[in-house]
Order: sequence, then structure tokens, then C-alpha cells
Amino acid sequence: MKTCVIGSLNMDLVAVADRFPKPGETVIGEDFATYPGGKGGNQAVALGRLGADVLMVGKIGSDLFGQQYLHNLRANGVSTDGVKIQEGVSTGIAVIEVDSTGENHIVVVPEANGMVDRAFIDEHWDIIKNRDIFLFQLEIPLDTVFYAVKKLKEAGKTIILDPAPAGELPDEIYKHIDYITPNETEIEMLTQIKIENDEDLKKAGRWLISKGVKNVVAKAGKKGAYLITRDNFVHIPGFKVNAVDTTAAGDSFNAGLAFALSHGNDILECIRFANAVGAISTTGKGAQSAMPSIGEVEEFINKEAK
Ligand code: ADP
Repeated sequence: MKTCVIGSLNMDLVAVADRFPKPGETVIGEDFATYPGGKGGNQAVALGRLGADVLMVGKIGSDLFGQQYLHNLRANGVSTDGVKIQEGVSTGIAVIEVDSTGENHIVVVPEANGMVDRAFIDEHWDIIKNRDIFLFQLEIPLDTVFYAVKKLKEAGKTIILDPAPAGELPDEIYKHIDYITPNETEIEMLTQIKIENDEDLKKAGRWLISKGVKNVVAKAGKKGAYLITRDNFVHIPGFKVNAVDTTAAGDSFNAGLAFALSHGNDILECIRFANAVGAISTTGKGAQSAMPSIGEVEEFINKEAK
């Protein structure tokens, strides 16, 4: 089955300095680099690395960052037929300052991502409708996410929603969602239930199910993930790794889930596979750099099984 990510493409500009400047002050930093990011792009690249047939649908600006991003998507095996260059605006960016303790300050400017509208979905409908499994996040306008999700569900497609960044969602969207993949903060925001133990998580998961979601796949960091359905509550333990940077672990997890579902695997197998992809992605620095190939995931899972 073919996969598709409809979402954001950001360039992350990361400056490292000993300390943060005070307002009006300038400090001299030690390191600077640009990394392709944004949840949409991250999930598409993770799928591409796994060898999935994946289409990216989103917008970049008419600048060098946009060109760099296009190159990055193609280099990772992602089809860019659904990526449009929006003239006269910047590619979405995240300006990230990191201090010597690892704390960060982040300013995200959506730019071209903010222009992914209903008309854009309609313009690309011919290539979108040829796909089977769809991944959404919340870094493009909510109105567009709702519009596309509803239209795709009516066309009988499988919808995975990563409800990140955290926020509340209107009730109407839930009945169109096959899999929702919140982390702990996100499920608390969606349900207004504080998660302190498995019982709370079960209650929060069942709340989402009562709204019409078919499967809640709750990400739980190094603990792995939980599957909550109308009848089931199952913990799928995480893999033990030496995590050095958990940026985009969630995006890798979502890609792993979509990939395994696209191969028709059983849902618990899919979540175990997603846990492996998420875990491996934490073992290297940066968002996309440590995302594994299918060969690496298989080797990792086989080693764990021994
Ligand atoms: P998010 O990145 O969205 O906050 P999590 O931190 O829960 O989400 O991470 C997503 C997934 O990545 C987890 O469900 C798990 O499978 C994997 N993962 C994250 N951190 C670790 C870790 N320290 N060790 C092993 N697996 C991890």
C-alpha cells in the first residue's frame, strides 16, 4: 500500500552558545547548523528511509531553504510531486538557540506551511487519492487538516493523526481517525485528564474512543507505547537503547507505524516495529540524521529477539 504525509516542512536553524543573550544583548556562539525538520517532512523522510512508497504534500518557500529541502526529500526517496513552491514567502523555519546546559529557546515561523489550504488539497487530489495510508500532524492550518481528513475518510482511506504540537481538537474530527498517536502531554491536552498511571491512560484513551477514534496508540517514551481500543488496553514495551537525542522520536515512531500498516501487519506487530524505529532514532543526534533504513530496523529487532 502507498503512503502519504500531508504536513509541514521546516528548516531548523540551530545556534549553540555558552548562554542565552539577555534582551538587547548579543552573545557570540560556538556552533551553527541548518537541519531539515518539521513534523511532516520528518515523517516523510523517515518513511523514505524505510523504503516506503511515500508522497509528501506540503509547501516550501521560493528561497534556498526550500531548494535544500526538496533535495533532501528526493535524496531520501520521498516523492515531491505534492510539494509546491509558494512564490514570495519563506520556507517554514524554526530558529533554535541552545545553551551549554542543553536548554533551548525556539521560535517557529510557519510561513509557507501556513498557506497549505483547502484549494491546495483539491489541486493535488488526483495524486493524493491514489494513496492508501495518510499521516497528518498539526503544523499546517487546522482547517486544512480537517478538510483533508474528512475527504479522505469519505474515500475510504486509512488516517493516522499525530496530534502534535499539543492542543485541543474539536470533537467532529475524531470519527474520521483510524489511529491517533499522542504522547503523554498531548493526550492530557486532548482529554483534560491528568496521566499519573495506567488507569488514567486507559480512561483518557477510552474518552478518545468514545468520540469516535478507532485506535489510540499512546506513545510513552522509553516505556514504548500503549494500544487502547474499545475492548483492549495493551502495553507494547519499548526497546532499551542508549538515547542521545530524542528529537523526532515521535515522528520516527509514526513513520514506523504507517510503514508496518502499509505492509498489512497486525496492529501489535506494527506498534512493536514503530517502537523500534523510534528507539533507533534516539541513538544519534538531530531529527532526521538517525532515522533508520529497513535493514537497520530488521537487524535491530532480530538482535533484540535473541
Ligand atoms: P514524542 O517524541 O512525540 O514526545 P515519545 O517521546 O513518546 O514521543 O517517543 C516516541 C516513541 O519513540 C516512543 O513511543 C518509543 O517507541 C520511542 N522512544 C522514545 N524515547 C525512547 C527511549 N529513550 N528509549 C527507547 N525508545 C524511545
